[in-house]
Amino acid sequence: MNNAQIVELGKKYVMNTYGRLPISLVKGQGARVWDADGREYLDFLAGLAVNSLGHCHPKVVDALTQQAATLLHVSNLYWIEPQVKLAQALVENSFADKVFFCNSGAEANEGAIKLARKYAKKTWGPDKYEIITMEKSFHGRTLATVTATAQPKYQKDYEPLPQGFRYAPFGDLKALEKAITANTCAIMVEPVQGEGGVNLADPAYWQGLAKLAETNNLLLIFDEVQCGLGRTGKLFAHEHYGVTPHIMTLAKALAGGAPMGALLATDDVAQAFQPGDHASTFGGNPLVAAAGVAVMDVLLKDGLMDNCREVGAYFMGHLRRLQEKYPLIQGVRGLGLMVACELDRPGADIVAECLKKGLIINCTAVKVLRFLPPLTITKADVDEAVAVLEEVLAGVAAADSAATGGQGQ
Ligand SMILES: *Cc1c(COP(=O)(O)O)cnc(C)c1O
Repeated sequence: MNNAQIVELGKKYVMNTYGRLPISLVKGQGARVWDADGREYLDFLAGLAVNSLGHCHPKVVDALTQQAATLLHVSNLYWIEPQVKLAQALVENSFADKVFFCNSGAEANEGAIKLARKYAKKTWGPDKYEIITMEKSFHGRTLATVTATAQPKYQKDYEPLPQGFRYAPFGDLKALEKAITANTCAIMVEPVQGEGGVNLADPAYWQGLAKLAETNNLLLIFDEVQCGLGRTGKLFAHEHYGVTPHIMTLAKALAGGAPMGALLATDDVAQAFQPGDHASTFGGNPLVAAAGVAVMDVLLKDGLMDNCREVGAYFMGHLRRLQEKYPLIQGVRGLGLMVACELDRPGADIVAECLKKGLIINCTAVKVLRFLPPLTITKADVDEAVAVLEEVLAGVAAADSAATGGQGQ
C-alpha cells in the first residue's frame, strides 16, 4: 500500500487520537526511515526518544529474532532469564537495588505512585499519600498519571480525577516548599521535562529539592522515561545534578523499540511491594527483556553517550547560530541529544515543511521545536538536518518580511 491508501484506511478504522502527519513510515535503518511511497527521511525524532540506537540496530534485531524463535512469553509466575539479566544491568549501573518491569511509561509511573503510597503508609502512617508533581510535567495518560501530569488540557473531560496530587511550578524551590503538607509522601519530577518543552532546572534547584525531600521525609521519584538511558549524555539525567531518587521510572528507549517500562527503587522502598501487591502480565517478558539486555549492552560499551554529548553540543552550536540569524528562534536549550528551539509562534507548520524536505522533527508545548535523534547520529547528519531547518526558517522569515512590507519584524 502507498501513503494515501494507508492514510485513507487509517482514517476509516483507527481512533482519531493523534494529529498524524499524512505519511506512513515502513522501513528504517540507523537514522534514516522510508515512507510507503519510497521517500527517505532523516529521523530527528527517533520514535519519540525510543529508537536511541537508531532503527534496526543489528544487536537489537539479533536479540529479538533469536528470542522470538526460542520463547516469546511465559508468565511472571516463573523466573525469566533475560528479565533477570536486564534487572542486573540496570541495578549495577544505577542507584537502585530492585526493578519491576511493565509495558509503558504510564504504567511505570502508575507503579511508582502505588509503591510510594504503600511505602509511605507503612512507614509514616495512613495520612501520608499526597504526591507533589510539577507544572508542565508529563507522566502518562492513565487516570492517575494524567492527574500527576499537571496540564489541564490533558485532564479536562476525565473528571473526577484521582485524589492526592498537588502541583508546583518546575524549577521554583520556594513554591515547592510551600506545596508540602502533612500529607505529602513524595515528589515526582522529570530531571529534564520532555513533553512540556525540554525544560531544565539549575543544579541549585536539584540540590534544594533533595534537601527538602530529606528534611520532610519525602520519597523522590524521578521520571526518566524520556530523559533516561543515555539521552542526555549520561546514563540517567539526574547524574548531571548529583542527586539520587528513591524511585525511578524508565520506558521509551529501554528495549530499543520493543514496548517496555520499568520501575526501579532502593531495597528499602522496594520491600513495600510483596507478592500479590502489583503485577503486569506482559511485564519484562522474554522477548522485550532480551531486546533490553542488548540495548544496555550497546549503551554501555559502544561509546554512544560520548557521541551523544559531542554531537549534541555541536548541534546546539548550530542552532544558536540559526537563532542569531532568525529572530523567530527565541531560545535554544537542551542536554545531550534532548534539544529544543523555542519559537515566537506555533511550530506545527515548520515541522510539516521540514517533513516535506525529508527531515523528521517534532513540535511540543505549541511553540517548541523538539529534537530527539538517535544517539548514533554523526556531525554530517546534524549538518544535513540544520541545512533543511535553515531553508525552512529562511522561507518563514521571507514571508514575515513580505507581510510587513520589507520592514523586518
Ligand atoms: C512518554 C512519557 C511518559 C509516558 O510514556 P508512555 O509509554 O507513553 O505511557 C511518561 N513520562 C515521560 C517523561 C514521558 O516522556
